[in-house]
Amino acid sequence: MFESYFPAAHVKSVFNIDYAKLYSLGIRGIIFDIDNTLVHHGDDATEEIEELFKKIHAANIKTVLLSDNSEERVKRFVRNIDTPYVYSAKKPACEGYERAFELLGTEKDNTIAVGDRIFIDIVGANSFGIRSVLVDYIRLKRFEWCGFKRILEKMILIIFHISRKPAKIDLG
Ligand SMILES: [Mg+2]
Repeated sequence: MFESYFPAAHVKSVFNIDYAKLYSLGIRGIIFDIDNTLVHHGDDATEEIEELFKKIHAANIKTVLLSDNSEERVKRFVRNIDTPYVYSAKKPACEGYERAFELLGTEKDNTIAVGDRIFIDIVGANSFGIRSVLVDYIRLKRFEWCGFKRILEKMILIIFHISRKPAKIDLG
């Protein structure tokens, strides 16, 4: 009953993914969410993130950013990153994923989506028919009220780990 909310895998952050291994497993494209997945909401790209994209591209994996945020925000983020992007994507609707796929030129079975929101990134990828990877969302050190949906997502994640079937994709 929770299948449409389950990711193919859950990792702590985008830095905990072995991208060379992903390539060896046949992955050729990654659709990344930006806010709270790559950087804290609204932040510019960090040097570490810029280096990460170079590393992913060096592993021969294509990337595209898929964000619900505005063109201005996404353009500012992507300033020093060589990747195409889709803004105002309206995830989890499929249209944004279709636009991302046109930019990637990959197939559904060799592409994954990476994001921090179960109800947005994971549900969107699942309904579009690609595997998804959930990362823990980036939050500031100071206390932040995380919201009711975050609590629901946490509960679904617990159910995901309890009912864990063999991983659909091995990222570590
Ligand atoms: Mg996000």
